[in-house]
Amino acid sequence: GVMAVDLKSLVRSIPDYPKPGIIFRDITSLIEDSAGFRQACQQLADSHSSKGITKVAGIEARGFIFGAGVAIALGVGFVPVRKAGKLPGETIGQNYALEYGVDTIEIHANAVNGDDNVLLIDDLIATGGTAVAAISLLRRTGATVSHAGFVIDLPDINGAEKVRALGVSVEALIA
Ligand code: 5GP
Repeated sequence: GVMAVDLKSLVRSIPDYPKPGIIFRDITSLIEDSAGFRQACQQLADSHSSKGITKVAGIEARGFIFGAGVAIALGVGFVPVRKAGKLPGETIGQNYALEYGVDTIEIHANAVNGDDNVLLIDDLIATGGTAVAAISLLRRTGATVSHAGFVIDLPDINGAEKVRALGVSVEALIA
């Protein structure tokens, strides 16, 4: 398709957030732009339209924004991958290491199953730790997870390689 919008130019870099020395990639400026927001979701959907995807899973919180748009574009349902304690039904959880400490993500236990082919979506991949945990969690249900899409990859950190090592394709719109 025609690439009408330069997505990279719509992402703001905010120095020293959330702490000194970190340059935070802020996607609020991208989603405030109607053409940019639509194009980001459409590109991630188009590249997976022939993969037999049955569900899109998006990681809290910015993965919800793009994942919902991708799910609508693909005509499939959306599964929220949430931080611990947020989902009301029966859940399964996965711990993953942070720079300091550990975090937990959860899905509803029956959100996906062995009949599903899940596309994982998040706004950004850095170390890949969050995406790897989400893939492991989704796969514990028996679901197939062979594709992941991100708006932004920070390629110097090599997170995409960790995801590819799990047999999952990685698409990023901005590297
Ligand atoms: P990773 O687990 O790959 O190291 O970190 C990726 C996760 O942290 C994603 O869920 C992403 O939303 C968030 N994240 C880390 N750094 C940034 C950043 O600079 N900008 C944005 N928008 N999200 C980030």
